[in-house]
Amino acid sequence: MGRYIDAVCRLCRRQGEKLFLKGTKCQTEKCPANKRPYPPGQHGQGRRQKISNYGLQLKEKQKVKRIYGVLEKQFRKYFKIASKTKGVTGKVLLQLLERRLDNVVFRMGLGISRSQARQIVRHNLISVNARRVNIPSYLVDKDDLVAINCKDKVKIKIKDNLELAKDRTVPAWLAFSAIEMKGTVLRLPEKNDIQQPIQEQLIVELYSK
Ligand code: SF4
Repeated sequence: MGRYIDAVCRLCRRQGEKLFLKGTKCQTEKCPANKRPYPPGQHGQGRRQKISNYGLQLKEKQKVKRIYGVLEKQFRKYFKIASKTKGVTGKVLLQLLERRLDNVVFRMGLGISRSQARQIVRHNLISVNARRVNIPSYLVDKDDLVAINCKDKVKIKIKDNLELAKDRTVPAWLAFSAIEMKGTVLRLPEKNDIQQPIQEQLIVELYSK
């Protein structure tokens, strides 16, 4: 299955909660999940769903995939790694997702959404430990130094992003300087560093069948 290219706000409405996929629009009154809080489509308003346990598990998995912009194949790969790693599988899974370079760029405020952060990484504008990295799924580690590595013209655009993201707090596992446009990974992320409520045990149950 390819990458989702339809209107992303439909995903929030289908999910029944805000997934914050559009950056600044998500905080405004224009957010379709606020304006039309029912599933998209012709029968969206009339649809009453009785959701099974399996449905709940599937829905939670879809939610996390959409938040981080990860496709099924890669998501399964993360789960496989998490299940083989020492620790609680669900928590390790979330840690892997949070450590992705595109997420780190977003969390530092260099991108207004994760999809924009992914573009920034793809366009070769980010360096990790002074080496350019253009792989959004690159996993950062403790003590890594993440910085912007581009011409001044592009830096102005990134500064605009930082301005738009100024009300967002940088999570405690990262240290970031907006003036220098660089940050350090202080430690690996934990469950309570994640912004949105996620029931990771539902995903573990789903994949453990
Ligand atoms: Fe979701 Fe943001 Fe669109 Fe609102 S504006 S529906 S939170 S993506």
